[in-house]
Amino acid sequence: MINSTGNIQEKLHTLEQNLKIACEQAGRSRSSVKLVIVTKTATLEQVKEVVRLGYNRLGENRVQHLKHVAEELEKFLNENPAPEMPEGIQWHMIGHLQRNKVKQVLKVTDIIHSVDTLRLAEEISGVSKKLEVRPRVLLQVNCSQEPQKYGVPVGAAMHLAEQITTMANLRLCGLMTMAPLSKDKAPVEESFSRARELFEEIRGQGLAGDDFRELSMGMSQDYPLAIKYGATILRIGSAIFA
Ligand SMILES: *Cc1c(COP(=O)(O)O)cnc(C)c1O
Repeated sequence: MINSTGNIQEKLHTLEQNLKIACEQAGRSRSSVKLVIVTKTATLEQVKEVVRLGYNRLGENRVQHLKHVAEELEKFLNENPAPEMPEGIQWHMIGHLQRNKVKQVLKVTDIIHSVDTLRLAEEISGVSKKLEVRPRVLLQVNCSQEPQKYGVPVGAAMHLAEQITTMANLRLCGLMTMAPLSKDKAPVEESFSRARELFEEIRGQGLAGDDFRELSMGMSQDYPLAIKYGATILRIGSAIFA
């Protein structure tokens, strides 16, 4: 077996170099871009390695896996405290969420990137009230207009954003989108550019106030372009674990 521990450190180093270059080219500071490490393909040992290297924002798209890894990691950190990480691990739920799983998710994380229907938003709001939490949510928008994709259509996004801001227990913090999986740059840029426009439009309306500041887009294949179009959160998995 290849020593994947050393591997991860090297891959993170390469990623950080690429981030630095992309930020410089976009005239942005590295600190304006947050990195969420997507653990869905990682082993527990690999997740621990990433955390040991100082990364504390982790993302999962499956509820069961999220719960499992979060619990195991908590045990690990209780036994091996990381004083340089005072705020602990911050989990981001990034995948499609079914309403009957909302309660489980809210017990582990308070950041959900994948709100894309009124019914889901209402469910999260109702459960949040009972649990007395105020999660941060991002509206997932289908900016690539691919019919098979999750996400509210661009044309309906403003209205759904308005509805979410009336729900007392939810904090609408921004938008999330996924570009098409394409080797071609053009459709990817189009998606990111559309997301950016919508983000500015909603922010311009002042609906959600200062909370509304995150643009979650950019994965292993396309993060430099996402940075160019103003992403504030990148969700990266395979560039580190594959
Ligand atoms: C898997 C996943 C990612 C990360 O994709 P990579 O190509 O592995 O970097 C980002 N966002 C979501 C919603 C995902 O499911």
